[in-house]
Amino acid sequence: MSNLYAVLESGFPVDRKTVAIETPERCYTWDDMDRASACLANLLASLALPAGARVAVQVEKSPEALLLYLATLRAGLVYLPLNTAYRESEIGYFLGNAEPDVVVCAPENAAWVGRIARAAGVGHVYTLGDQRTGTLLDAAASFPQTFCTVERKLDDLAVILYTSGTTGRSKGAMLTHGNMASNALTLGQYWGWRSDDVLLHMLPIFHIHGLFVASHGALLAGARMIWLPRLDVNQALHYLPRSTVMMGVPTYYVRLLADARFDREACRNMRLFISGSAPLLMETFNAFRERSGHTILERYGMSETVMLTSNPYHCADGERLGGTVGKPLPGVQLRVVDDAGHALAAGDIGHIQVRGPNVFSGYWRMPEKTREEFTADGWFKTGDVGRYGGASVGRQVPEGYVSIVGRSKDLIISGGYNVYPKEIEGFIDDIPGVAESAVIGVPHPDFGEAVVAVVVPKPHVSLDTQAMLAGLKQNIANFKVPKRIHIAQELPRNTMGKVQKNVLRETYQTL
Ligand code: AMP
Repeated sequence: MSNLYAVLESGFPVDRKTVAIETPERCYTWDDMDRASACLANLLASLALPAGARVAVQVEKSPEALLLYLATLRAGLVYLPLNTAYRESEIGYFLGNAEPDVVVCAPENAAWVGRIARAAGVGHVYTLGDQRTGTLLDAAASFPQTFCTVERKLDDLAVILYTSGTTGRSKGAMLTHGNMASNALTLGQYWGWRSDDVLLHMLPIFHIHGLFVASHGALLAGARMIWLPRLDVNQALHYLPRSTVMMGVPTYYVRLLADARFDREACRNMRLFISGSAPLLMETFNAFRERSGHTILERYGMSETVMLTSNPYHCADGERLGGTVGKPLPGVQLRVVDDAGHALAAGDIGHIQVRGPNVFSGYWRMPEKTREEFTADGWFKTGDVGRYGGASVGRQVPEGYVSIVGRSKDLIISGGYNVYPKEIEGFIDDIPGVAESAVIGVPHPDFGEAVVAVVVPKPHVSLDTQAMLAGLKQNIANFKVPKRIHIAQELPRNTMGKVQKNVLRETYQTL
């Protein structure tokens, strides 16, 4: 059986009366999950949709939203999660592009989403609230509580994930049952998932991190999830002592560290903290180790590929190195190439390309774009720039470890020289009083692009930008030294904690 749901279900515990999901309000046993997802799958099956039909979902996080995802898989349909932040013009684009047969939205958005859905020719619109309200659950309630999961092939489509699309229109990455099952099975082994794990789940579920990496891991292990709508430090501190695994974007770790109550005692049952989706600062990595006694495991992936690399979990696989995203996962091939596509020597910076059973099958209805993003011999161009081994954050990194330097579109070319923002950010972040920084390129009449830094000071610190520039000049080549440093109270971030450099480039475009 190749349906991803069947693969996940193979890990469910024998005793289905135990708790699968716990929220602050209630608990759901594995039996409850099975019955509720069966009702929803029966409802979807009753619509008699063609194979490959899309179910687009824009709802707040709730266990029922996860059940809807599982039901869509069970019914053999294609799940299409949408960021809850999207508004009318964005939803209009996604529905027009993906042409779903079913749309599920939050009850409070029913009027405008319903209007857009009808205009896009969507046949079935339901609502689902985060407190078990809405027309979807009402409609599903009368359906049988058993369902025979629909047979699917490994290369059948399971999910379409729209990329965040900071340049141009968002693209729908098509992920198959095989892509996700292979990645879930690999991570299950590599991160040592156990049936007695308790996952503290605080991530959104419209993205790979929360929906696939976190939820799949717990489901496949038959492990309990503590399900919270978002990171709330008070709630996190309440549940941490009962948890064994936590996944977060770097901001989550920064926020935990900012609370004096977060200490070794709070993590007494934890076995693994995982970070990803955006770079984890060395300062956070070190401070976290000192405060909690735990070494955060940083990993790297993207919508198009699910997880690609991970720092080791088991000592036998090596050390967890801050400032790196670890090694390619078993079964994943990774190479670093120059602009002409030639493989580079260890430590040289270039474009990261990948191949493996986890790599998506292409962009939805964008054959041209798909062709552009794959090499003739089947490597996917990730758009990330990095290196394999070599020096990272001022020290030598052993062979086999990958470090990300940035997105290729964030690379700055100043006076013909390549400037990698992450390198400069590393130097700036080391200056006393700096909380964090972002380095961008802005148009410049002589150099083409000029290097500009946006710096956030630590609380109650006033930074002297001239002294900072003078200090940087002593340490790095002149062409890399920012032409200007702007002080900001915070960096613009999206919901996954990624710094929005396109927003910064717009704000600071004039020198
Ligand atoms: P998304 O498709 O939204 O998950 O974004 C994927 C992108 O996030 C990758 O291409 C990387 O640029 C970035 N990313 C993910 N994990 C990391 C990480 N651990 N360190 C640095 N960047 C990361």
